[in-house]
Amino acid sequence: MSFSSLGLTPALLRAVREQGYHAPTPIQVASLPPILAGRDVLALAHTGSGKTAAFALPLLQRLASAPPGAGPRALVLAPTRELAIQTATLLRELAARLLHRPRVALAFGGVSINPQLMALRGGCDVMVATPGRLLDLLDHNGLRLSQVELLVLDEADRLLAAGFAEERERVLAQLPARRQTLLFSATCPPAVQTMAADLLVDPVQVRV
Ligand code: AMP
Repeated sequence: MSFSSLGLTPALLRAVREQGYHAPTPIQVASLPPILAGRDVLALAHTGSGKTAAFALPLLQRLASAPPGAGPRALVLAPTRELAIQTATLLRELAARLLHRPRVALAFGGVSINPQLMALRGGCDVMVATPGRLLDLLDHNGLRLSQVELLVLDEADRLLAAGFAEERERVLAQLPARRQTLLFSATCPPAVQTMAADLLVDPVQVRV
């Protein structure tokens, strides 16, 4: 299987090559086509499987379909600062290889919010955040989520363990109801199944 058979545009194929990826991993083979087709996806995959690129590539391809707007068009929620940094880093590396260079913003707790608020003033196309800090940014009017078309819940099982069940409705209230939602999780306990049932519309299930 090659990346070129999965529906990526030439620009993304070049970015993938320059990233040093020669062939897609199983999670990428299984999830790229439905994500690119605009479907909601529930993907069960562990760290190390290539899951980040499995959502980062179609996310960036989607952003290329329209000029930059007022606010982020994609929101990635990650349970920890480390994961948020890792995800934003991959998105930035890939984005730097694209002509329109989507702007990737990153926010996490445990550090002063001011530099993050300042960084958002210039606008962004993708927001990668931990949920608590995302709510802080919203409380400070530092961010509007009304343009978000794509929501990614990364490591959903850990998001829930970190208290996302309580934050969920406040975040969702800021998002358009009409959007694509991707839920990635290493495990699928009942709490994740419930969240998937609540948030995903007619999802494609991917398990590797
Ligand atoms: P992740 O599961 O997203 O944490 O990715 C694990 C590691 O696999 C990261 O270091 C990625 O850079 C790498 N990776 C992801 N996709 C590919 C690929 N198609 N080929 C080679 N390495 C990859």
